[in-house]
Amino acid sequence: MTRPYNFSAGPAAIPEEVLQEAAADMLDWHGSGMGVMEMSHRGKEFTEIYTRAEADLRGLLAVPANFRILFMQGGGIAENAIVPLNLSRGATADFVVTGGWSKKSAQEAGRYCTARVAASSEAERFRDIPAPAGWRLTPGASYVHLCSNETLHGVEFHELPDLRALGSDAPLVIDCSSHIASRAIDWSRVGLAFAGAQKNLGPAGLTLVFVREDLLGHALPITPSAFDYRTVAENDSMYNTPPTWGIYIAGLTFQWLKRQTEGGLTGIAAMEARNIAKAELLYRAIDGSSLYVNDIAPAARSRMNIPFFLRDESRNDAFLAGAKARGLLQLKGHRSVGGMRASIYNALPLAGVQALVDYLQDFEKTRA
Ligand SMILES: *Cc1c(COP(=O)(O)O)cnc(C)c1O
Repeated sequence: MTRPYNFSAGPAAIPEEVLQEAAADMLDWHGSGMGVMEMSHRGKEFTEIYTRAEADLRGLLAVPANFRILFMQGGGIAENAIVPLNLSRGATADFVVTGGWSKKSAQEAGRYCTARVAASSEAERFRDIPAPAGWRLTPGASYVHLCSNETLHGVEFHELPDLRALGSDAPLVIDCSSHIASRAIDWSRVGLAFAGAQKNLGPAGLTLVFVREDLLGHALPITPSAFDYRTVAENDSMYNTPPTWGIYIAGLTFQWLKRQTEGGLTGIAAMEARNIAKAELLYRAIDGSSLYVNDIAPAARSRMNIPFFLRDESRNDAFLAGAKARGLLQLKGHRSVGGMRASIYNALPLAGVQALVDYLQDFEKTRA
């Protein structure tokens, strides 16, 4: 039986092979007599799962040795507070506001430090990314935050800014929740990256933080101990009980990612090639139609989250019902943006995008 294609923005589709493997392990992981959810996080079985997951992730994303990988909880929204608590030193942090998520990050950071908007595309309804040369960066800022893929508005940084070339020594913080592992990350431009797992890596409840070692140890005194990056790093993410099930599923996803190949490429490079092909297929169908529209500047369009509107919005309900009948699930747009949104993360195959494109064309033809 084939499963429907799931276009959810998150929690989102997980590779079927991963779900099957987890199902097979549910009652007895590798002859241990225990399911993963029932194991001590300090036992040898879970230590094996954790160590492998960390090593696989480090290898997949080519994370440099001077970065620590932290397995935390609280999601991207908690990181909006945890980052300023750890990095701001109570001073000014700059925000590049390119959509709903970076806007939210700036608002939350303002509770812990001075949060300045260095650039914003809100007046243009977040349809493009302001050119870095025009950003008004604060001299001596403690960090610069951006959201490298705006899940709601469908804009993506296809290149991270080189802050040094812009005259800033501040570390760059990226919220890469909704495109982590969909493409390579240029670590030479990053000080800290964070991502909730539930878009591209596994279940909700696990948050990944990649932090350059020199940024550890500067937390404000009010920082909760469990959210002090240095404490988490010094305890190998076991200061408190980590989200063991989430780490296990993410670990299976890392193994799945390592197995992927595409035209001579493997791992993340294979995923990136596939994601480019998927996004091109869908944008071409939208741009070539007279019913659907996506008005994001082409150079800033996301490969992962593709919002689109029906020019005749009275047909929205019929569109969604017809999609569901064909096994194309969760295409409704976010409530703050409206319309439709197709999230085509790593686990959604090209065949799923083709099925959506076929449906888009068939639905357009049935126009009364
Ligand atoms: C989903 C998402 C978040 C929020 O994650 P929570 O787990 O709900 O806290 C933050 N940032 C981005 C870019 C997201 O896509």
